[in-house]
Amino acid sequence: MSWVSSLHYYQWLNELAQDRLGPINNSKILFSSVDWQKIQTHQKNGEWDAAGDYLVDEARKLESIGAQIMLIGTNTMHKVADRVQNAINIPLLHIADATAVRIKAAGLGAIALLGTGYTMEQDFYKVRLEDQGITVLVPERQEDRDRINAIIFDELCLNIQKPQSKAEYIRIANDMFDHGAQGLIMGCTEITTLINANDFNHPVFDTTRIHVEEAFEIALED
Ligand code: GLU
Repeated sequence: MSWVSSLHYYQWLNELAQDRLGPINNSKILFSSVDWQKIQTHQKNGEWDAAGDYLVDEARKLESIGAQIMLIGTNTMHKVADRVQNAINIPLLHIADATAVRIKAAGLGAIALLGTGYTMEQDFYKVRLEDQGITVLVPERQEDRDRINAIIFDELCLNIQKPQSKAEYIRIANDMFDHGAQGLIMGCTEITTLINANDFNHPVFDTTRIHVEEAFEIALED
């Protein structure tokens, strides 16, 4: 929903087209840059149906002008993924499903999840992974979950990356590795601007990158 993660979708989808198809090939992208203030208000008020209806409207517009696969460029708003999928006739590639495929391919059973408070604390995302045989760990301490969430909304979504915030993410992730996590889901699409695989001794799953790569492969097959 923030432009900060959207620009990575745009850049990486096009870089993949260049790499795979040739230097002057673009990915054909139909893109709705939504009113994120409106969505954040719905999120804060728990008005998920209204937020879902807003995304349904946008998704229908994109389908009507030719989209063949739908992406919601955030983990959190996958809370309304079913509502969107049920309203359109093209497939929606769920970011958690794409990520689960990679986790299972890596042979991991227990995974740490960092994301917004909604993603870490509510069921819509964790249960989707758990239904696919993956045990999900989130930071145990409320203060750590609040800090992870605040860094997303107050810094990363505004394209601010602070060394002390990076250090906190690494500390909290390492704490979960010490408690049995075998890998880490970067379960928010802006986290890719703060940390990466080089920061850890365990496998890291960048949901933004994975979502882009899986969508590109599907589009290419078609
Ligand atoms: N992009 C973030 C995510 O992946 C959170 C911000 C938002 O609500 O879009 O969950």
